[in-house]
Amino acid sequence: MDRYKKVRGMHDIMPGETEKWQFAETVLADSAKLHGYREIRPPVIEERMLFERSIGASSDIISKEIYSFQDRKGRHLALRPEGTASVVRAFIESAPPIPGKITRLYYYGPMFRYDRPQKGRYRQFYQFGVELLGGKHPFFDGEAVALLDFMARKLNITGYYFAINTLGCPKCKSAYTEIVRSALSAKEDSLCEDCRTRLKISPLRIFDCKNAECRESAACAPAVTETLCKECLDHFGEFEEYVKKAGIPCKKQSGLVRGLDYYTRTVFELYVNGDENAVAAGGRYDSLVRELGGADTPAVGFALGMERLISIVNFKLEKTPSVYLAAMGKAAALKGISIVKELRNEGIAAETDYEDRGLKAHLKNADRSGAQWCLIVGDRELEKNEFILKNMVTGEQENISEDTYLKRIKELIK
Ligand code: ATP
Ligand code: MG
Repeated sequence: MDRYKKVRGMHDIMPGETEKWQFAETVLADSAKLHGYREIRPPVIEERMLFERSIGASSDIISKEIYSFQDRKGRHLALRPEGTASVVRAFIESAPPIPGKITRLYYYGPMFRYDRPQKGRYRQFYQFGVELLGGKHPFFDGEAVALLDFMARKLNITGYYFAINTLGCPKCKSAYTEIVRSALSAKEDSLCEDCRTRLKISPLRIFDCKNAECRESAACAPAVTETLCKECLDHFGEFEEYVKKAGIPCKKQSGLVRGLDYYTRTVFELYVNGDENAVAAGGRYDSLVRELGGADTPAVGFALGMERLISIVNFKLEKTPSVYLAAMGKAAALKGISIVKELRNEGIAAETDYEDRGLKAHLKNADRSGAQWCLIVGDRELEKNEFILKNMVTGEQENISEDTYLKRIKELIK
């Protein structure tokens, strides 16, 4: 019979890996909470139109990568390709806006994009993201980068930096778009087919093309900072002051744009030296809440790709103390029921095998289970009200009495 395989672009996260994920998830959530963020859990399915309106119909995500379908009632739905649109939708839908109020939200979960599968690129992948709604001051942008920096340090990531740039307010952004369009029109022949379309519809995306040649051609366009209005320049200047003061490693990159339409002003990406792909990316999106039907609400946020993050963290995971119980014979097995219960109640992981096995087979099991200790209980031991405790790492063993075994194991584990 044919065996089922995982669908292209999907991946299983297996034991051995999941421990790393759980560790990173805890560090990220704790970091976000320390910065005042609270968790939001929007659904995975939304109206397709929500993504089209926010990310942009001509973006790669919408034009090539979105998983969309019609349900039985003919609704046009999509699996979320990113989190911001859902968070903003929920924010608008859940409560009337309170002027001046800052809302800090974080989310975590799977995203779906029909990307070309390769290292660090899947069709279902996980993002951890934060959104700060209601903050206009450039120091909020700084604080978003500072939170990412905090997370990177908590995960002992080294050799990273932030690429930073600004796209300007909507007015500056559209003026700059025209400048880039006319600068690159002369280079149309050197652009890939996609970028020739981008030149017409959304020329800034050429900076973000996966094709190095297109990016080189785009580099001849004037830097965005040359064309910004005073307010946009000041905004970016103050953001730079914040990250400098906070000691965050940043590199100004005038070609940094984002593949999503909603960004205005500050944009940033987190890179680890030597890696081509960003681990996290984000920026300011001051018009999105209004464009999706909400009140005027400036906002800034980022999303961090978990698969890429997990691949660069140096994990030193602590093992939880664990005991394998080798109970031999019916009487020992019955005694074992209360032993494993007591161990687990004390926060010590315990496992056993109920099949009737000899000591050798039990020890093999204990070894495979990864337990640090094996507690051996047989008829002979029961008679003397005694167990044998074997250290699976050193091989040493000692006799311990039934009355004090728990105390002794707790002592040893410390
Ligand atoms: P890229 O340029 O690498 O395609 P992107 O601009 O599409 O990235 P964003 O939409 O900014 O990515 O998503 C933020 C983060 O999510 C990325 O920095 C990356 O870590 C992660 N990410 C995006 N797409 C994928 C994917 N297909 N597989 C795994 N992680 C992804
Ligand atoms: Mg992409």
